Amino acid sequence: MNCLKFFLIFLFLAGCSSKEEETPVSPEEEDPNTSEEEEVTPALYFFYANHTHLEGDYLPYTDSNLEQIRPLVAENIISTISAIADVFDSYGAKITFEVVYGTSKGICEHQGIQDNVFLDMSSRGHEIGVHTHRTADIEKAMQNLTEYCQIPVSTASGFMAEVRNSDTPQASLSEALQSYAQWGIHAATENLVDLDNSTFLFGELCNYEIGVGNDMWEATGNLMFPWKPDYENGDNCVHNPEGDIVMTDHVSIAWMNLQGHPDVLTTEHFDNLKRYFDEALNYMEREKPSKIAVWGFVSHLTEFMLGDQGESGPFTPSLDALNEFLEYVDSYAQQGRVQYATVSQIRDLYLDLE
Ligand SMILES: [Zn+2]
Repeated sequence: MNCLKFFLIFLFLAGCSSKEEETPVSPEEEDPNTSEEEEVTPALYFFYANHTHLEGDYLPYTDSNLEQIRPLVAENIISTISAIADVFDSYGAKITFEVVYGTSKGICEHQGIQDNVFLDMSSRGHEIGVHTHRTADIEKAMQNLTEYCQIPVSTASGFMAEVRNSDTPQASLSEALQSYAQWGIHAATENLVDLDNSTFLFGELCNYEIGVGNDMWEATGNLMFPWKPDYENGDNCVHNPEGDIVMTDHVSIAWMNLQGHPDVLTTEHFDNLKRYFDEALNYMEREKPSKIAVWGFVSHLTEFMLGDQGESGPFTPSLDALNEFLEYVDSYAQQGRVQYATVSQIRDLYLDLE
C-alpha cells in the first residue's frame, strides 16, 4: 500500500514538474545562436533597410490629405514589396522595411487590417519599422502603422534628412531620438557617413570618434559597431551604456548615385555597393573584432519600379541585379562569415553580448 502511495505521489510531482517545464517560451527568448561557438572567422551581421518611398510619402493616396487611394499604385507597391522579399527569401536573408506614413495607412486601408503585405512580411521573418524625414512626422508615421496595420514597430529611421540641414545637428538628432524613445522605439538605423562628397557628417562634430572604436568608416562606408547615442545629454557621438536606443549605421544611400539618383537600380550600382561590402569583410578578417560588427545597405522602394509615382510594378532587371548581389553575399553566408539579421535582431544580439 505504501509503495502505491509513494508511486502516486511521484506521479503527481512528476506531473507538476513537467507542467512547469512546459511553460511556453516566447520565440524572442530562445537563443538562435547556440552554434556560434564553432565559427572560426567572425561573422559580419548583414542587413538591408528598405525605405518605402516613392516620390511622395503620401502615395498610394492622391495627395497628403490621405483620403483617396489610387488602387493601381497600391497594387504596384504591394507587388514590388513582395517581389523584393522573394529575392531575399531565396537566400534566407532579412529585410527591415522602414515604412513612411502614407504607405502604411494606404496599403493597410486598401488591403485590410487582417491580411496585408506588411503582416505577410512580418510572418516571413522580415521586420517592419518606421521612416520619417521630419521629427514632426513621427507621430503620424507611428500612429498609422500601429492603428491601420496593427503592427508593432521596433525600429526607426530617416531623421538624418532633417538633421543634415539643421544648424544644430546634435540637438536635432537628440530631439528625434527622444521622440522615438517616447514611442517605445529602442533601435534606430542611420548613416552618419556621406559617400557623396566624402564628408563625415558627424565627423568633426564627434572629433572622428563615434560610439566605441568606429574607425572603419572611410573604407567601409559605414560605422560597423552599433552604439547607444547619448541623446539624453545631447551628445550622440558618445556611447551611453545606460542609453535605451541602439544605433545601427548603414552605408549611405549615395552608393546608388553614380550619375545622379537613378530611376531603377542596375548591376553597375550593385557592383559599386560590393566594394563597400568587400571592405567590411576585409576589416573583419584583419581586425577580428570581439564585438558585434554590422554592415548594411539601404535603398528606396522606388528604385525597383519604373517611374516614381508607383505607375508600374516591380522592374525585373533591378530584381535580377539585386539577386546577383545577394548571391555574392550569400557565398560568404555559406562559409559562416556573414549572418543575416533584421535591425531589431542586431539590437538584441548587441544587448546580449554587450
Ligand atoms: Zn527617406
